[in-house]
Amino acid sequence: MSSRRIFLSLSQQSGLEQKYIQEALDSSWITSGGPNVDEFENKLENYFDNEFLVTALNSGTSAIHLALILLGIKAGDEVICQSMTFSASANPIIYQGATPVFVDSELDTWNICPEYLENAIVDRIQKGKKPKAIIAVHLYGMPYKVDEIHAIADRYEIPVIEDSAEALGSNYKGNKCGTFGTFSILSFNGNKIITTSSGGALISKSNDLKEKAKFYATQSKNNTVHYEHSEIGYNYRMSNICAGIGLGQIQILNRNIVARRENHLFYKELLKDIEGVKLFEASSNYYYSNYWLNTILIDTNKGKNVSRENLRIAFDQADIETRPLWKPMHLQPVFEKYPYYGCTVSEDLFEKGLCLPSGANLSSEDKKRIEKVIIAFFD
Ligand SMILES: *Cc1c(COP(=O)(O)O)cnc(C)c1O
Repeated sequence: MSSRRIFLSLSQQSGLEQKYIQEALDSSWITSGGPNVDEFENKLENYFDNEFLVTALNSGTSAIHLALILLGIKAGDEVICQSMTFSASANPIIYQGATPVFVDSELDTWNICPEYLENAIVDRIQKGKKPKAIIAVHLYGMPYKVDEIHAIADRYEIPVIEDSAEALGSNYKGNKCGTFGTFSILSFNGNKIITTSSGGALISKSNDLKEKAKFYATQSKNNTVHYEHSEIGYNYRMSNICAGIGLGQIQILNRNIVARRENHLFYKELLKDIEGVKLFEASSNYYYSNYWLNTILIDTNKGKNVSRENLRIAFDQADIETRPLWKPMHLQPVFEKYPYYGCTVSEDLFEKGLCLPSGANLSSEDKKRIEKVIIAFFD
């Protein structure tokens, strides 16, 4: 047994995080908001070529919730959501008392399928309720079919919340993920491309919306000396300490993307001649993925004991963490009563798919251990 467990996606530090955290401690600004938060927002806005406004929040989930609030989603409304995703994409729909309508994936990007999306919209309208928003996700860093999805959203005049939690650094036809939605969101959770330990951001297109997001995120406190509230608020702002970590992290964003894309090339080379395994890759050069996680599909071969679960166990026995793909939301006990449009694309992906270690700090030693398991398993 090897000395150290290899995890799916651990964060990598730049070494600069300490300095910013120390500054926050020294200034006693140990609260939500503050100089590091402003600076972190600036750095993110620079990353998006200063064409978008960024509000730093305490999580990506909060960012999705605020996007729904800013779009005026209320109890009884319907919101379309990609079924194959992390539950954080869908939970905020319920927070608003709205109804999620789940849509299947397509096989090129594993993200929301344009045909089923349009079927869902048409059918909901026929049933008397036009969906108020669409939540589309760039899963594992792979951009969704941006042109197709937004053409449909535009045609029916439905705003899109772009869940770019896993896709900072990815782009579609040269345009950065995080810039396509009416609102877009990022996550800086510990396992994402860069981290603030816990954190997220809402990306919007006007200063008014940024101010409104900050307002809701700080308990909707009116601009008065005493505490005056005319709307329900939330405690969603990023802390100054967390933003300090973010300031250290954003300096190695590009390095992290390069490292993750190199991991992808490692898996491509390793798996190229192995039958029954398919590495998930960009289906054309429109899609530039940060390869946040590398994922494979395994054809079950009963005679040879080859299955997703057996491979996962083989990795685990070598102290290597792997995980099944996200289990689709329409299969989740908590969501199964809601409408679903699609067939079995996301279900099949879930049955056959495995996420492989993909952290930016994966060493050549780690890669040798991973290679050993793969070679032995498929031998
Ligand atoms: C991580 C993640 C989120 C939520 O981010 P948190 O910062 O953990 O709240 C939302 N959507 C997807 C697809 C994610 O992977």
